[in-house]
Amino acid sequence: MIDGSADQQINLDIGGRAVPLRVRRHRRARNIILRIDTANDGALLTLPWRTPLADGLGLARSKASWILRGLDALPPRMPFADGAMVPYLGVVHRVRHRPDARGVAWREDGEINVTGRPEHLPRRLTDWLRRQARSEIAPRVAAKAASLERQPGRIVLRDTRSRWGSCSANGDLSFCWRLVMATEPVLDYVVAHEVAHLAYRGHGPRFWSTVASLTDAADDARAWLRKNGEGLHRYG
Ligand SMILES: [Zn+2]
Repeated sequence: MIDGSADQQINLDIGGRAVPLRVRRHRRARNIILRIDTANDGALLTLPWRTPLADGLGLARSKASWILRGLDALPPRMPFADGAMVPYLGVVHRVRHRPDARGVAWREDGEINVTGRPEHLPRRLTDWLRRQARSEIAPRVAAKAASLERQPGRIVLRDTRSRWGSCSANGDLSFCWRLVMATEPVLDYVVAHEVAHLAYRGHGPRFWSTVASLTDAADDARAWLRKNGEGLHRYG
């Protein structure tokens, strides 16, 4: 979707507060789009290919108070560290650093235990959650694809910001590993959605009835993602 060029990073001064602004060029964008950049505590400006940067910055400056309101409304950040409260399939777990234990990480009695040196904890916990996401997603993909008599391609876990999943033309399925922090019905819905794309590319009525045949409460899951999805990017 994105046209390859690296995002440009600018600091926007809003009333003495430095707000990081990412500027992205998009070939198919028709208008200047300004959004809150949840992952970076800043704003994201998308510009059509030929729009001068000054036009985009002018828009961002004119929306300064909207940007500040949006940033102040973000849920608090939860860095991965000893004592952090992190949801696993929607159930909040306490992260416990276990420097002397063996293994990498494990989940037990409402806690996620992470071994190793303290400075490695964020990386280890992220890697573990990514593996858990795969172990939750892969069997669901297999079962749902089999019920449609379709053959899925590779399953890839990413840290995507704009989409929870995608299905390529050759049947490879990509998911955001952060889904393992969402509730189980939400994760199940996203899998059902992408697997249904193995049968129907678009989002027509037959696509949606296929999704409904693969998962319960798709509407509730979509509502959950609209309300809580951004918050999953505040972890780690
Ligand atoms: Zn879709």
